[in-house]
Amino acid sequence: MSLIVQKFGGTSVASVAHIENVARRILTSRKEGHDVVVVVSAMGDDTDKLVALAEEVDFRDCRAQREMDVLLASGEQVTIALLSMMLMKLGCKAKSFTGTQARIQTDAVHTRARILNIDIASLKVQIDQGIIPVVAGFQGRDSEDNITTLGRGGSDTTAVALAAILEVDECQIYTDVEGVFTTDPRVVEGACRLDVITFEEMLELASQGSRILHSRAVEFASKYQVPLRVLSSFKDGPGTLITNEGQSMEQPLISGIAFTRDEAKLTILGVKDIPGIASAILGPISEANIMVDMIVQNVADDMSTDFTFTVRREDYDQALKILENIAQKIGAKEVKGNNKIAKLSMVGVGMRSHAGVASKMFRVLADESINIQMISTSEIKISVVINEKYLELAARALHSAFDLSGASLDEPTTTD
Ligand code: ADP
Ligand code: ASP
Ligand code: MG
Repeated sequence: MSLIVQKFGGTSVASVAHIENVARRILTSRKEGHDVVVVVSAMGDDTDKLVALAEEVDFRDCRAQREMDVLLASGEQVTIALLSMMLMKLGCKAKSFTGTQARIQTDAVHTRARILNIDIASLKVQIDQGIIPVVAGFQGRDSEDNITTLGRGGSDTTAVALAAILEVDECQIYTDVEGVFTTDPRVVEGACRLDVITFEEMLELASQGSRILHSRAVEFASKYQVPLRVLSSFKDGPGTLITNEGQSMEQPLISGIAFTRDEAKLTILGVKDIPGIASAILGPISEANIMVDMIVQNVADDMSTDFTFTVRREDYDQALKILENIAQKIGAKEVKGNNKIAKLSMVGVGMRSHAGVASKMFRVLADESINIQMISTSEIKISVVINEKYLELAARALHSAFDLSGASLDEPTTTD
């Protein structure tokens, strides 16, 4: 007998018929002798609909953040009740738990809260009595009992955090594709399912925009060594195991391509090249709780330089206003912005030992006449910012040039 956490995403629970399919899957695991703790998302695109309702009210005060979490958390509450009823109808003992009832303690950062602790005593009592706990993903409560949510896609993190604390044998993330692919299979037709991928690569892919897993879920899984598998709710198969490096001798050069349109770029031109200027520009941006991703400062010419950085697209308008203010204060020449950009990243642990990936990537983009606006690299990742309208073309061209649809490893010949 083993203990597993099974998480089902929005598409997997989009209707009552889908919920029945999920309940039957859980039942199969029970019949195989496993104890199961279930985590679910809101049905279909219900969270998007709730966000749209709040946008209609259009009250952009910080007090609205608390209410936003009360609103968003309601989506998952519907699913836990319906799935528990369905499981009981099929003859199982099941009981629903909101984040608060499951005692998922978070910090107080509304809409982007982090899980601090989970008191699993009451869930354990249920498991010991043969009851399947059905826990609402994506939500918790802060130290003052306010409802909090974990950021879009956060149900994965609920599942992995529970799996870590319950020390389960496997955490299974059921979704609408058959595992982790070399890139989004909805965008690139030839994308291939990976049997295994390392935590490190998965973390890069997730944090660079591949929404198959929430990046904090991967962080948790890596930190607490939770065996994590991504599988399809609709089709049987082995899925993708996310694991530590070193299981196979041969490391792929590139494991995957991630991309996101959730990007905007801001440039402040003609700033003085003196100590403290980066802090004068980015200080007020971070005080406004705006996350900055890439940063580029050009080499100074006549003691003046240009400074460019990227933010999430939803923060663009606010960041632009702040930057215009800063420009006046520090006597900069001009502020420019562009919110029609996208970021594409190639990820692979094999990059550590192979030169030439970057130059090949740039050549492929050049051959498609795609201009690179910004570049950033880490040991196992190269990211470029490009015009959003060329994103899909770029993803397809790179996927094919690096032969990610085939089994062979691509060895670039040039050096960086
Ligand atoms: P869920 O609602 O189950 O959490 P999501 O929509 O959050 O599902 O994530 C699954 C989607 O992630 C897939 O439908 C696919 O379009 C997208 N995706 C992006 N990158 C990848 C990738 N590398 N492998 C598989 N799916 C990916
Ligand atoms: N329902 C939330 C969302 O759509 C959380 C999740 O699905 O993981 O973002
Ligand atoms: Mg998701």
